[in-house]
Amino acid sequence: MTALLPGLSGSEATLSADTAAPFARRRSDAAQLLNPGATPTIPAAAPVVVPTLSLLLIDDDPGIVQVLGRMLCGLGHLRFALSGQDALRLARESAPDVVLVDADMPGMSGFEFCALMKADPQLAEVPVIFVSSHGEVETEVAAFAAGAADFIRKPPAAEVVMVRVRTQLRLKALADALRRAALVDGLTGVANRRRFDEQLQSECERALRNGEPLSLLMIDVDHFKRYNDRYGHPAGDLCLQEVATAVQGLVRRPADQVARYGGEEFAMLLPQTDLTGASHLAERVVAAVEALCIPHEGSPPRRVVTVSVGVASASRMPAANHTALSAEALIRAADQALYAAKAAGRCQSQTYRPPIATGEFGGAID
Ligand SMILES: [Mg+2]
Repeated sequence: MTALLPGLSGSEATLSADTAAPFARRRSDAAQLLNPGATPTIPAAAPVVVPTLSLLLIDDDPGIVQVLGRMLCGLGHLRFALSGQDALRLARESAPDVVLVDADMPGMSGFEFCALMKADPQLAEVPVIFVSSHGEVETEVAAFAAGAADFIRKPPAAEVVMVRVRTQLRLKALADALRRAALVDGLTGVANRRRFDEQLQSECERALRNGEPLSLLMIDVDHFKRYNDRYGHPAGDLCLQEVATAVQGLVRRPADQVARYGGEEFAMLLPQTDLTGASHLAERVVAAVEALCIPHEGSPPRRVVTVSVGVASASRMPAANHTALSAEALIRAADQALYAAKAAGRCQSQTYRPPIATGEFGGAID
């Protein structure tokens, strides 16, 4: 059984975006560098909705849940469960930022609940605080062995509960920030190569499982070495930031992902997208970068920064004797299409069409 206590739900906060501001500054710097006479303009940072912290409280005694709820109602959105099973269902619906769980509950104990949380990749990083009337060392040690982040004795004192929950929330926020930073390209703010490789692998597996199309764009800045040689590496960095912003701006669906593949090469992964849809988007990428009008005297005939794009799409072959759709094959096909776009004169997109042998790759590139 789950219940919501009246008047204890959280609210969403609207703040200026620390995330948007540095990027706005970089764009302004780029304009200044490329047009030294121009007056830099810094657009106002867009408001960003900061997600409310989510707390999950679990105890088979509704009275304890009420008491904890009153203590913690100022910290975020509270959800409640009177059993481990219900709590696990709630956690899987939406991962909480911290959990307080009773050690002793009929059915699934707090120890079992905690072990299941730690075994679930989506929930393993959520701190679990035990609340128990058992003060013995053995119980406390068993809680930490099950993966607990902290241990509070009943009856819970409000001051102790608050400081310990706040500590866990602060530690989780730091860990989340580090995990996010590890997946972002420091220069451009789009996903980094590590994130892309992980995403490509999981999307290949999903496309294979569901029989859905999956497309990939490989995007390369034309004559970028000449750009760096002529304008210098700081200007080159700003150019890559501008290009990344323009490409990212074309993404409309949360599952679509832009990543910096390496150097001046970007990748765009498009789940549930066939070759026609991907080719259409590739043309928009080419047009969007050209429309930036970043001067590039070393890139005739347009004399602005442009990109070439290779498009590949993989689809499941129902008759194929496969075990996996090869991420490498998809990258190779998009790369070949990219080389074709370069050879055909740059500032354009080309698609890869010939099928790849199903015996070798377990899928087909169309
Ligand atoms: Mg109990």
